[in-house]
Amino acid sequence: MPPLAFGRLQHLQEVDLQLDAFRAEVKHIETTLADHGDIEAARRTLAALQKVQEQTSTTLRDAELALATLTTEVEEKSKRLYSGTVVSPRELEALQADIAQLMQQRSVREDHALQAMVAAEEAENARDEQRDGLESLEATFATLEKEYSARLQELAVEIPAREEERTALAAQIDRTLLTQYESLRARLGDRVLVLVSQGRCTFCHIALPDTQLRRAQQNQEIVYCDSCGRLLYTAL
Ligand SMILES: [Zn+2]
Repeated sequence: MPPLAFGRLQHLQEVDLQLDAFRAEVKHIETTLADHGDIEAARRTLAALQKVQEQTSTTLRDAELALATLTTEVEEKSKRLYSGTVVSPRELEALQADIAQLMQQRSVREDHALQAMVAAEEAENARDEQRDGLESLEATFATLEKEYSARLQELAVEIPAREEERTALAAQIDRTLLTQYESLRARLGDRVLVLVSQGRCTFCHIALPDTQLRRAQQNQEIVYCDSCGRLLYTAL
């Protein structure tokens, strides 16, 4: 009985493991590229901060306008007070009282304008900071996208090449052995053809019973590890 083609099956398994890795890589790249979650969140935050900036800027303009109106009013009344056209003491007193009241209002308006200015500045800074952050996120993503696209192109060549290699190898392997290997791989994934070394299964490291070890050393029949269920073979 000729020895089974464990060497070729071993080679085929390496190709399969490489294909698994390539396919996992494609999946990882596609998932990563499809996920724009953090960029979208950053864009939403920027839109909200932009709105706040616009509101505070409007508030500031209104406050400055109100202040300017009061200032003009104070100036006009002061001009009248000192113009000499108003002579009645009662009228003069009323005018003075008016001016004093306007000055008081203006002082309050000044405080408002100052607060509005601070708020507008803060809102502008927050928006600018968010915009910078978003730009940096977008730049990082663009770089990643470029790298990943290049890698996907490589994989689009590598994967079919490996698949072809696999088909050629599979054609040279005993059908029963290949079927056993494939059904084990479907069930266990990972590495299912395992080398016996120093009397042990190199996957689960259990020491094989003598009879099983001898059978595995012949490489003439399919021998399974009692412990992990994998296919055993011995290097020639
Ligand atoms: Zn084992």
